[in-house]
Amino acid sequence: MPDAPLPATVSAPAAAPLPPAAPWIVVKFGGTSVATRERWDTILRLAASRRAEGARVVVVVSALSGVTDALKALCALPPDERVAAAGRLTERHRALAAEMGLGRVEAMERWLDSLQRAAADGPGAGGELAWQAEVQAHGELLSSALGAVFLTAKGLSTQWLDARTCYAATDLPFLNERARLLSAQVEPRHDPALAADLAARGEVFITQGFIARDGQGRTVLLGRGGSDTSASYFGALLRAARVEIWTDVAGMFSANPRQVPAARLLTRLDYEEAQEIATTGAKVLHPRCLSPLREARVPLLIKDTQRPELAGTEIGPEVREQAPSIKAISSRRGITLVSMESVGMWQQVGFLADVFAHFKRHGLSVDLIGSAETNVTVSLDPTENLLDSDVVAALAADLARVCRVKVIAPCAAVTLVGRGMRGMLHKLSAVLAEFGQLRVHLITQSSNNLNLTFVVDEDVVDDLLPRLHEMLVRAGALRADDATLFGPSWQALYGRAAAAAPAPWWRAARPRLLKLAAERSPRYVYHLPTVRAHARALRASGVIDRLYYAVKANPHPVLLRALAEEGLGFECVSPGELAAVAANVPASAPRLFTPNFAPRGDYAEALADGILTTLDALHPLQHWGRLFKGREIALRVDLGRGLGHHDKVRTGGEGSKFGLPLDQLDAFLALADDCGARLRGLHAHLGSGILDAAHWGEVYAQLASLAERIGSIEFLNVGGGLGVPAHPDDLPLDVHAVMRHLAEVKRAYPQYALWMEPGRYLVAEAGVLLARVTQDKRKGAAHYLGADAGMNSLIRPALYAAWHEIVNLSRLDAEADTLYQVVGPICETGDVLGSDRRLPASAEGDVLLIANAGAYGAAMASRYNLREPAEETVIE
Ligand SMILES: *Cc1c(COP(=O)(O)O)cnc(C)c1O
Repeated sequence: MPDAPLPATVSAPAAAPLPPAAPWIVVKFGGTSVATRERWDTILRLAASRRAEGARVVVVVSALSGVTDALKALCALPPDERVAAAGRLTERHRALAAEMGLGRVEAMERWLDSLQRAAADGPGAGGELAWQAEVQAHGELLSSALGAVFLTAKGLSTQWLDARTCYAATDLPFLNERARLLSAQVEPRHDPALAADLAARGEVFITQGFIARDGQGRTVLLGRGGSDTSASYFGALLRAARVEIWTDVAGMFSANPRQVPAARLLTRLDYEEAQEIATTGAKVLHPRCLSPLREARVPLLIKDTQRPELAGTEIGPEVREQAPSIKAISSRRGITLVSMESVGMWQQVGFLADVFAHFKRHGLSVDLIGSAETNVTVSLDPTENLLDSDVVAALAADLARVCRVKVIAPCAAVTLVGRGMRGMLHKLSAVLAEFGQLRVHLITQSSNNLNLTFVVDEDVVDDLLPRLHEMLVRAGALRADDATLFGPSWQALYGRAAAAAPAPWWRAARPRLLKLAAERSPRYVYHLPTVRAHARALRASGVIDRLYYAVKANPHPVLLRALAEEGLGFECVSPGELAAVAANVPASAPRLFTPNFAPRGDYAEALADGILTTLDALHPLQHWGRLFKGREIALRVDLGRGLGHHDKVRTGGEGSKFGLPLDQLDAFLALADDCGARLRGLHAHLGSGILDAAHWGEVYAQLASLAERIGSIEFLNVGGGLGVPAHPDDLPLDVHAVMRHLAEVKRAYPQYALWMEPGRYLVAEAGVLLARVTQDKRKGAAHYLGADAGMNSLIRPALYAAWHEIVNLSRLDAEADTLYQVVGPICETGDVLGSDRRLPASAEGDVLLIANAGAYGAAMASRYNLREPAEETVIE
């Protein structure tokens, strides 16, 4: 649920008393969230708003940040230093109380006294460990005591609750004393008596995370992730309506954002998926805190304290109607593999039991297992095991007596998590191909069908994870476009350029667009101010000496005229494009002819018109040399690699038909000399849809160093390909950064003029395709929504698997709660505009808007099926 950003100071509203059966909401705040006055204002505001929702509230708090560590350190000090350490903690808490405007807080002083005493006395009859637990519990006792007084003083009457009176740790006979006292576990059951008792006492409570009591009434600690676990215990005890964990990040992400900045916020997970992600690497949530909630069916929400308006991650029972998706990719490092080879022994009764007995004897718990006729390989996870080399060596020595042993380390386990993994295998071909380049030691698929794990060498994961994540998105296996499952990328939320993207122009133009669609559909509509704005954005820096528009992206006459007015030249790939330019823009506008495998006549025509022509093969000079005599030409080279959003748009590298390979450069130069052609420019265009700001600077530098070898070169054309992100949440290309990179290269090579020739960047966002809903049909699991525009109007989804945002413009702000396959009227199975799209329930006649359709939309349209493609309209 979105919360408005918080004002600096708040005061809680008064509210009517709650009925005894009012629901409970548990909200938990960690150490940094309780360490400043400002953060306590946030807690006040959030607790008050939950209360205003009509719920009773339990606020669970951690110790102030750093305090638990300080208490742990205190326990290890010699007796004479402990009192001073307790004194420092006293100062810290009193300073915060003063900052919060509270003066002397008696309830907190009580715990400060008791801490002083415990520090001075040292361990008593109860023993060292019981004393440590007692001392360390003070962090939460202090912060909660302070909080109760603060919240009440601000008008939100809050009861202080001792968590140790609410639940007891489970007495597990196999645990030793250390685990019982310092890493206790609770099995909370719904406790209606406790709920009733609390309801009689008040409406808002504040209590401690991390602590509990044991069967003997001693204070015990819950160990790692303890405070989150406490919140989930309260959630289960009280059968809460929900548990909210407020932390410093918006929730769980589809990968570790430190490794994969493009990782998406996971907005909805079921308990098992969340458990799997938490267990296989994510640190936001301790895996332990999920099972109490799963049994009680209490939803858990993770939210960012600093950014409460963000959706966060909601974890709850499984939702069936969703299309299956990979939810996350995680990695765990430090994995040790033990491979055991033996001929024909595995079938022998009791053999495996003997082998595993060795693991048990060395205190090692096995994580993944792969087995074959003569080999069993298992993995040991360092978070579950004390994996020093001595232990592993001793294990290997024991095992060597029964089989051949190989220890492989360090490895990393890369895990894909998602419900219904086996049903998604067909979407993983690119991912599997990527693993084909690596040494994969072990592959396992969990029996709950939730994960697929690959064990590889540890040193490859940092490079591998971002690539795999991108492939999963591209293959539609990780369905980042489904807004009910995935939120924005980490980069978009917290990255450098996290400034909110402006709303697309078509939102404001909605009434006009609806009118246009009512007149006629399907229909392309181009927004001229957006085209002009993009042209200006590229020209603003002044780094580019000549900017050409790649006409093939959209040759609409009105756009050509507008771009000529903005001072652009025109890059054409055919006589038809040259003619369209000639017919619409003044003769003074510069133009380029960059054909590929075009017939001789095309060159003859362009050259006769005095148009600068780019060659990318030897053939024209070898066979039609006369045409080029005395002409200035440019050469398109293949720099040996291609880039872009799809194989079909990569125009460099092996497998692409474009550009002269560099090993033919000398031959080309000799032929040009023979013909009397004057080579003035070098050109490279590696592909379309590139979002890496450094790309053009790199091409520029490569061309510049080639140019130095050639001598006669005056300009360098770095091509187009400037990308426009498909998803509204993705980061746009950083044009300033592109220009910075180019400017840097230019400083080194000031003698060459810099040319660029973008197409898509200038026009994609300016165009939308409007279509009307024709029919609605369910078939098997699919729910089809027909549109009157199909692949004859927009072929990019069918040709490149391009993703275009689709909205129901008639119901723009209605909840998008229905999963559709949006298809056109063309007789082709591939006539799909968007698969698995969330839209409001839509009806015949509704207007659909397909965004980012200004580039390579109408330009690639056809009359296939003898259906006329969408008409085009330009608006100001
Ligand atoms: C298509 C093309 C471009 C424009 O590509 P965009 O991805 O639309 O920017 C530029 N140069 C050449 C040679 C092209 O073929």
